[in-house]
Amino acid sequence: MDPQSLVDYAASLDCIHCGLCLRTCPTYQLTGAESSSPRGRIYMMRAVAEGALPANDPTYREELDFCLVCRHCESVCPAGVRFGEMMEVARDSSERAHARTILVRLARWLGLGVVLPSRWWTARAMDLLFVAQRTGLARLAARCLPRAAGSLAHFPKVPTWRERRRWLSRPETTAGERPAAVLLEGCVMPELFAAATRASAQVLEACGRRVLTSSSHACCGALHAHNGDLKRARELATQTIERLDALAGDSTPIVVPSAGCSAHMKAYGKLLEDDPVWSKRASNFARRVADFSEFVARELPAQVRLEVAAGVGRVTYDDACHLCHGQGVRTPPRQLLDRVHGLQRVELEGSEDCCGSAGIYSLLRPADSQAIFERKWIAFQATGASVLVTANPGCQLQWHCGLARHASQAQVLHLSQVLAAALPTSPGA
Ligand code: SF4
Ligand code: SF4
Repeated sequence: MDPQSLVDYAASLDCIHCGLCLRTCPTYQLTGAESSSPRGRIYMMRAVAEGALPANDPTYREELDFCLVCRHCESVCPAGVRFGEMMEVARDSSERAHARTILVRLARWLGLGVVLPSRWWTARAMDLLFVAQRTGLARLAARCLPRAAGSLAHFPKVPTWRERRRWLSRPETTAGERPAAVLLEGCVMPELFAAATRASAQVLEACGRRVLTSSSHACCGALHAHNGDLKRARELATQTIERLDALAGDSTPIVVPSAGCSAHMKAYGKLLEDDPVWSKRASNFARRVADFSEFVARELPAQVRLEVAAGVGRVTYDDACHLCHGQGVRTPPRQLLDRVHGLQRVELEGSEDCCGSAGIYSLLRPADSQAIFERKWIAFQATGASVLVTANPGCQLQWHCGLARHASQAQVLHLSQVLAAALPTSPGA
């Protein structure tokens, strides 16, 4: 195998070794080791491409796994290094070149290959987890499998079936009057945060949109791309384009209430650039993708008066990495919160630092994930806020678990939930 095919070698040459990214990197902050920094990882990628370091070097593989792909390093890099893309290529080649243990391969096949791409299997997996949590089986499993206890403890509490009800598109009374918007429900979000999806739909309706969702679509492939399976990520990207375009043609905006997914879907053009069949269509699709916050900030009419819901106290907003670093979207969520009359918003120090969620990272490396969260907890306490708002289900999960560990009574809400509750005649999410 050509060693240069193992990493994005050309991109690695952009790094000028200035070190400006080091202080922003959560893993470097934990270890202080150059190998755990963006610059160190790029150095190792380049060494692998030049044949100076074997691709199965244990430190190299460990550092690929240790990185959260939070992309904070990209925001501060003066050379414009696209670290997220480099990491996806490096992880993909690492997975292909060096098989993990049978148990890990089985877990990856089950989670990434079977459950996430299927709406039905994701729902059944959550049903199982729901029963295990309610009967105490999950606690028993954590006691019997001490090595997995951290990950098991990090599994979220699965909501009841009633709370997991999906958004159903409302019939159009005056045919064709309102322009449509496609709302991505996603894979895990409908099972764990269905209230946020329903709230997103309500807010889009307040924007004057007819909201369309797909009952057959499950996963956009973001988790696959971030975890070294670009082949499956490309398959899921084409499936996503087909299924969402089937709803309302190829000119309708695609609104995504999950920052990790919106960042990934905006990059479909790049992901499929070498595919002669899909390349053009993927670029067109990607141009129509908007994160929920940027879309609503643009489209919510000025005359819609938002009033803070009863019981919502001081609020602080935590930037999702893939929204601020991945998409450069920082102002719209804050603007929207500031539009809510009576809402008191305070800034969270270090709001652009990663919370340690990073997709399935919190399950794979619970100890590191929790250690990274501790800085956020200290910053949150300093705000005196009773509500933490974010725009990404993974971050919501991390905050739920982190606040529960600290016995905090603070609420964690998706931006859409704050806005839906503030709408003039909100029926409640
Ligand atoms: S993506 Fe995040 S964790 Fe990874 S090297 Fe960059 S700053 Fe560090
Ligand atoms: S900031 Fe950019 S150029 Fe500087 S060391 Fe980090 S990755 Fe390299």
